[in-house]
Amino acid sequence: MPDVGPDGAVMKVEVAGVCGTDVKIYSSPVIGAPVIMGHENVGVIVEAGARFAERQGLVPGDRVFVEHYVPCMRCDWCRAGEYRHCEATDWRTNPDARRYGYTSADNPHHLWGGFAQYMYLPWNAALHKVPDSVSAELAGLVTPLSNGIEWALVDAGVRYDSTVLIQGPGQQGLSQTVACKQAGATTIIVTGTSRDAARLDLARKLGADHVVDVQRDDPLTAVMDLTGGRGVDVVLDCTSGAGTTPVLLGVDALKRRAGTLVIQGELAAFPDFPVKKLTEKAITIKSARGHSFRSCELALDQLASRRFPLDLLSTHTFGLTEADLAIRTAGGEEADGVIHVSLMPWGQG
Ligand SMILES: [Zn+2]
Ligand SMILES: [Zn+2]
Repeated sequence: MPDVGPDGAVMKVEVAGVCGTDVKIYSSPVIGAPVIMGHENVGVIVEAGARFAERQGLVPGDRVFVEHYVPCMRCDWCRAGEYRHCEATDWRTNPDARRYGYTSADNPHHLWGGFAQYMYLPWNAALHKVPDSVSAELAGLVTPLSNGIEWALVDAGVRYDSTVLIQGPGQQGLSQTVACKQAGATTIIVTGTSRDAARLDLARKLGADHVVDVQRDDPLTAVMDLTGGRGVDVVLDCTSGAGTTPVLLGVDALKRRAGTLVIQGELAAFPDFPVKKLTEKAITIKSARGHSFRSCELALDQLASRRFPLDLLSTHTFGLTEADLAIRTAGGEEADGVIHVSLMPWGQG
């Protein structure tokens, strides 16, 4: 157990979400040092130094959602609550970056990941107090839901009367569905494959107006039929490992002019990218990159409201000794119908 001193705290980890990023960094680690994985963490503060408690307004017993970014709190991005852009959190450009689940355990206080019973919190951890009415397991959905709010509403501007195509019915696509529905989108179309039948059913329960099995029906024809031939205002790519196909479909499925495409861009290069069509249609491309402080707060409010049956997203939970199985399950290797996978280091509730 780390000695936290006046500036730190220790959190007892209740739930660590497992997502596609874990699948990637488990097979090819981002740094060479030993790392405690787990970047979507919820728990209860069990010990807090005096200055930590004063700065954070949090005391032992408080349940918190921990953003995985550990920001500097001094730069312009941090002042704006955009910790995801702070250089102190960017392992790609800063070898000393701090990010839960990505940081060397050789660093002081060592406990920098949620696949553990306890986690260290410094004074500058980005924390959100979880309302009493939200369980730890439900709070484990803050990460996908805050991404849904950030990408669909902030980045793509989905609002009242928007038409939206969401590609991929995993936890991220389903979270976008909820965010778009809450914002007032009139037509929400979610695509998936035949293997996704159960997840597409859940998309309907969470607010999708139409679902399309792309192996049975041509998705572009379906989108055009469902929008009276106009195409959609916004396309959100929440697929994984689908190559160039979702982006190409997105370009074609967007309305005639000035649509927005949000992409996750796992491809290093994009051969034959249709840049002419993109320009002619005046399409805006935005990059899906995490969430702001405010989007996390909005996600917690959404969970507390119980307006949508978001607990249906939690499909699989595992103990700490089953971390390998949990990651393989999140990667779709072990079962169909997997949506949100959680590690619960102390067992169920
Ligand atoms: Zn994640
Ligand atoms: Zn900063």
